[in-house]
Amino acid sequence: MTTRTRIAPSPTGIAHLGTAYIAMRNLALARQGKGQFLIRIEDTDRERYVEGAVAVIFDAMKWLGYTHDEGPDLGGPHAPYTQSERLDIYQKYAKELVINKHAYYCFCTKERLEKVRQSQLKAKQLPRYDGHCRTLTDSDIQTNLQSNLPFVIRLAVPKDGVTICHDPIRGEVAFENAGIDDQVLIKSDGYPTYHLAVVVDDHLMEITHVVRGEEWLSSTPKHLLLYAAFGWEPPVFAHLPVIRNKDKSKMSKRKNDVSILSHRDRGYLPEALNNFMALMGWSHLEGKEIFSLKEFLEVFSLDRVTKTAPIYDLDKLNYYNGYYIRALSDEELIQRLQSGFIPADCPIDLLPALMPLVKSRLTTLRDFESLTDFFYRTPTSPEFSEEEQIYLSVAKEVLSACDWTKEGIETKLVESVKAKGWKNGPFFAALRLAITGKKVSPPLTESMIILGRDVVLERLK
Ligand code: GLU
Repeated sequence: MTTRTRIAPSPTGIAHLGTAYIAMRNLALARQGKGQFLIRIEDTDRERYVEGAVAVIFDAMKWLGYTHDEGPDLGGPHAPYTQSERLDIYQKYAKELVINKHAYYCFCTKERLEKVRQSQLKAKQLPRYDGHCRTLTDSDIQTNLQSNLPFVIRLAVPKDGVTICHDPIRGEVAFENAGIDDQVLIKSDGYPTYHLAVVVDDHLMEITHVVRGEEWLSSTPKHLLLYAAFGWEPPVFAHLPVIRNKDKSKMSKRKNDVSILSHRDRGYLPEALNNFMALMGWSHLEGKEIFSLKEFLEVFSLDRVTKTAPIYDLDKLNYYNGYYIRALSDEELIQRLQSGFIPADCPIDLLPALMPLVKSRLTTLRDFESLTDFFYRTPTSPEFSEEEQIYLSVAKEVLSACDWTKEGIETKLVESVKAKGWKNGPFFAALRLAITGKKVSPPLTESMIILGRDVVLERLK
């Protein structure tokens, strides 16, 4: 049997970095198992649905270089791949469970459920459904249905026994059935809950490995019970550790910018983000720190996944980004920068000369503007002290006469600093500030050569 994996994002807004982290692992398993990687859209929670969010997920996957084999955009043998288009399928399977007594109609009102909850809380019990409708007679059920009472369908969870999840990352995880609530499978609006839809779809779509975030581990016994109720063979369930902030808190929208595409817009390269995410909660067999997505897809394995939470360490991501920027040829770097990082007032023909100066200094593509603006914008000149003004007038004199080459400029400037008995430090600092408007800039002589003698002398006035 070939390996079939999937991601099943819910379109509730941004495409989250966690989705990419999960996706690349699922993609690796599918490719290694000569199988397919699917994208399924889980949009049955209508309250959280955000228009346009599906397109964002596809954009993000494409930018990262992940290719899927089946999905709402591509179709495939198990279409449709969007849950809101599969409602009749869930209805059919829910009814089958009811007929086989693995699920039941529940007509309890919100008010009743709230009362039960309150009294359980008072008695210091875990709030859960009390099974009231589990014992309704067939004729009660028929009467209620005929009078159009709103209902949900609940899973009849066995009252005893244990459900065991054999997780390749976590080992054997056992759950007491007595601790599992009679989960709602079909809501009163006729939509399935996540639990029913995910099981039905993973089965029908022939998913062999469900590799997802640890936050779903507590749902897995419900899913295993559903597989058993249907008489279906469950897939392998593996739960990856969830990415955390440096302070170990859960990575949230508030704390970091967790959107995949905002990383793109902030000037991160997909190569860098992939390498960074590859090493989250997993290590390369040979201890490598730098490797491509292609290599990751070939060598990833579940047995090297850690149980401890990986950390979103921005310094590390910045390190990778700088590394991958420096690995680009000048032409490639120009191309990447041209995807929105070159200010409108920067002359395009200047770019080839700027690349050698900025390549080693860019952490993100977005740094390009602040590093290079003085080439195409006149810096506002700061107040110079009397001493600095003397430096600048001497520099101006030297620079108006010397050879306009690196050698010519540097020898003459250093000579005259020496002749005056000054120190290089303060002299060149003033010169840099006057020409670039910055205390830190790309190499000064090279920058002056690109600017040209006229502009340099103008700035020294
Ligand atoms: N729809 C769930 C999510 O948004 C999918 C969880 C799973 O992979 O089963 O993450």
